[in-house]
Amino acid sequence: MPTAVYPGAFDPVTNGHMNIIRRATQVFGEVIVAVAEDMEKEPLFSLEERMALLVEACADYENVRVDCFRGLLVDYVRAQGAGLVIRGLRAVSDFEYELQMALMNRRLAPEIETVFMMTDSEYSFLSSRIVKEVATLGGSVASLVPNGVERALSSALSAKGGKTNADPPIAR
Ligand code: ADP
Repeated sequence: MPTAVYPGAFDPVTNGHMNIIRRATQVFGEVIVAVAEDMEKEPLFSLEERMALLVEACADYENVRVDCFRGLLVDYVRAQGAGLVIRGLRAVSDFEYELQMALMNRRLAPEIETVFMMTDSEYSFLSSRIVKEVATLGGSVASLVPNGVERALSSALSAKGGKTNADPPIAR
């Protein structure tokens, strides 16, 4: 049974990611969930927090390992001795970017195959970004993320709110 790497930002992990992880555990011998250290935008959660939330959410899966990587994904996949990359597809809108990435990775490492898994339709609208937006505006994300993530989101956002809404200057 081959080992597959499921890479992403996971800022934070959602039930959409968990849907892909569950499917992958049934198909592959080992699934390495690899959290990207390099991100274009400043993440809400640190690398350590994103990894800890994944470890908690994946605790019931014996064949899942949570790790992190920086630099080229294909270099990491080779170093792990894995030959497969898993990506989740939600909608047609994901396709163009994912095709571009898969073809570039194939050019860099022809021996590594990218496998796409379709999410359940109930998660097709779900992304880490939308979960953060809803949570920031006070909406409930209870059914959209693992339990630990819901707790982490409310404390991260209240800590952030504390910083952003700094006390107004005292009127003289
Ligand atoms: P990225 O910024 O690389 O897309 P993410 O952590 O958001 O990082 O996603 C990692 C992988 O999980 C990607 O393949 C993405 O398409 C997939 N994914 C994200 N949300 C969902 C979802 N709701 N259903 C299925 N796959 C998803």
